[in-house]
Amino acid sequence: MEKTIIIIGAGIAGLSAGCYARMNGYAADIFELHTLPGGLCTSWKRKGFTIDGCLHWLVGSNPADDFYKVWQELGAVQGRKFIDHEVLMRIKDSSGKALILYTDIDRLEKHLLELSPQDEKTIRDFTGAIRKFTGMKMPLSPASTWDTVKMFIAIAPYFRALTKWSKVSVQVFSERFSDPFLRKAFRASFDLPDFSMIFMIMTLAWMNAKNAGYPIGGSLEFSQAIEKRFLQLGGTIHYRSRIVKILVENNRAIGIRLADGSEHKADLVISAADGHATIFDMLEGKFVDAEIKDRYAKMPRFKSLIQVSLGVKRDMTKEPGLCGYMLDRPVRIAGEDQKGFSIHNYACDPTLAAPGKTVLVCRFMSDMKNWRELAQDKEKYETEKQKITDTVLGLLESKYPGISEDVEMADVATPMTFERYTGNWEGSMEGWLITTKNAFSRMKRTLPGLDNFYMIGQWLQPGGGVPTGAMMGREILQTICKKDKVEFKASFPETSGK
Ligand SMILES: Cc1cc2nc3c(=O)[nH]c(=O)nc-3n(C[C@H](O)[C@H](O)[C@H](O)COP(=O)(O)OP(=O)(O)OC[C@H]3O[C@@H](n4cnc5c(N)ncnc54)[C@H](O)[C@@H]3O)c2cc1C
Repeated sequence: MEKTIIIIGAGIAGLSAGCYARMNGYAADIFELHTLPGGLCTSWKRKGFTIDGCLHWLVGSNPADDFYKVWQELGAVQGRKFIDHEVLMRIKDSSGKALILYTDIDRLEKHLLELSPQDEKTIRDFTGAIRKFTGMKMPLSPASTWDTVKMFIAIAPYFRALTKWSKVSVQVFSERFSDPFLRKAFRASFDLPDFSMIFMIMTLAWMNAKNAGYPIGGSLEFSQAIEKRFLQLGGTIHYRSRIVKILVENNRAIGIRLADGSEHKADLVISAADGHATIFDMLEGKFVDAEIKDRYAKMPRFKSLIQVSLGVKRDMTKEPGLCGYMLDRPVRIAGEDQKGFSIHNYACDPTLAAPGKTVLVCRFMSDMKNWRELAQDKEKYETEKQKITDTVLGLLESKYPGISEDVEMADVATPMTFERYTGNWEGSMEGWLITTKNAFSRMKRTLPGLDNFYMIGQWLQPGGGVPTGAMMGREILQTICKKDKVEFKASFPETSGK
């Protein structure tokens, strides 16, 4: 008889674990609180526009990269077109002066040297690192000791540089530029507390290698392709199924209890849901050690977001993609001062809006605490959302005069929205921040004292991300197969994943 696995959450990590479970002959049931797959990797429709809530870049999108194989196994890339952006983002000041993070490294270097020739040493240090990492492949989870050896051999040439750059923050590195504009704009590109340079460098390196494309069709279509693969492999997904408790007997996970009170049993339980809720709610904090307590008490995490999405009756194909604006005076949004804002123009994807129309998205990092209070009073909450839309329209008018007249759809997602639809702790958009202290730290996929239980997903790897989730789903089945003394198997789907 097939061994049974219950997976909590149909985000990318949960779907991936489900696919590899089926490929290896385990019966797999995914329980998901929402009505759709993907978790954070999602999109939604409003008044004929598709709003994307996730993928700016998907690492492993280049068929020459080893990781592409994982996307093929999951049926996510077959028949899918990717756009390799020429620019990661532009950062502009109020005069219109721009730092342009070109994805072509030679072009980026030339641009930076033009902006500030006196900073040549710092610029070449930065672009040299991007060049170096361009050759590095996204490592696959090793299936055997020989694979592990091969992985270490492949990473060895990069080891020193990885160590060096993971320990420098964007804030500290930006101080090395003597040019005031470059210093300020560089910092603004990833202005997060103690944010490791390795994230920015690796992203640019993968983009330079045309290995971090945007999938045409958006994030939900991408997630649905993996859902389809899981279902074709014979897996089952239970939607509208919020898990409130992981059932434990003699320190072994034996199943789950849903909010409706029903219980489901399995040989193994994998939580691919929010880490905090899994450990402290579903398991009532009974399986923790000092390291886990410390992590959840102190480690910085990505904040949540306010996402204002607008559908406009305007062709914006000639306008830049992602643009960050530094403000001379902060703007107050939901009780927080914002030093800047970004406009993400999705005109590159014709599937998101009708011809001649465009989806524009403005995102602000935001704390949950003000929103929890606001959400107590529906009217206040809605008023705040309207106020934010008006503020954003004011900001947009200064860049695109007359744009307010062209707005056909406005949608505001708040930290409450992120929490409600994905269950992530305080609505976090990506789990733990990747800082100079935790880059490459390895978090255990098990909890102390609890058998037959694993955790995967963005709360197990600083920096999170869609490929990380897919990789962990694969990796955890390798671990399970090894424990069961069966050879791990992975295969490509016979039909297109789209
Ligand atoms: C705006 C934005 C842009 C991003 N851009 C990128 C990008 O360009 N590239 C990239 O790689 N990553 C990006 N990310 C990050 C990426 O989306 C996440 O890191 C990744 O999708 C996390 O996947 P996951 O499966 O680990 O977790 P999640 O997506 O959070 O999935 C967890 C799932 O568990 C379900 N769940 C939670 N609690 C329960 C419960 N009690 N019972 C049942 N189900 C439950 C949730 O509903 C959810 O479906 C972005 C994120 C955001 C918000």
